Amino acid sequence: MSGHFDTMQVCLKGHQITARYTKSPQFRQERCEKCGAKTINACQNCNAPIRGYYERPNVISLCGTETPLYCHVCGKAYPWATRLKIRENLKIPAWIKKAIKWAGHNLVTIIISIAITVISAVIIWNLGIK
Ligand SMILES: [Zn+2]
Ligand SMILES: [Zn+2]
Repeated sequence: MSGHFDTMQVCLKGHQITARYTKSPQFRQERCEKCGAKTINACQNCNAPIRGYYERPNVISLCGTETPLYCHVCGKAYPWATRLKIRENLKIPAWIKKAIKWAGHNLVTIIISIAITVISAVIIWNLGIK
């Protein structure tokens, strides 16, 4: 037996309200509790239901369902697509975060090392001139 998609309810800013709109109507909300925006559960362009949790018989998935950016029927971007895409692009890679954290801990050492390097360079350069 194959599965089927439940419907997802999302606020206009892209906060997912529920991925089981049909199965668990108790999670439906008129407004988003995070930002107060209106919620929708169907494409505003073609009225196709937003794809939510993929329901399969005898399978319980604990993974969250990702909020889609485009309608799977008409292909139009949902109102939150731009916002979520920007957020996706702003994600800083873990190694940069680590580097920033490390730099924060060692800021004084780094500044002193740079200062020493610059001063030495200037002295060496001055000596070379003479
Ligand atoms: Zn919201
Ligand atoms: Zn659509």
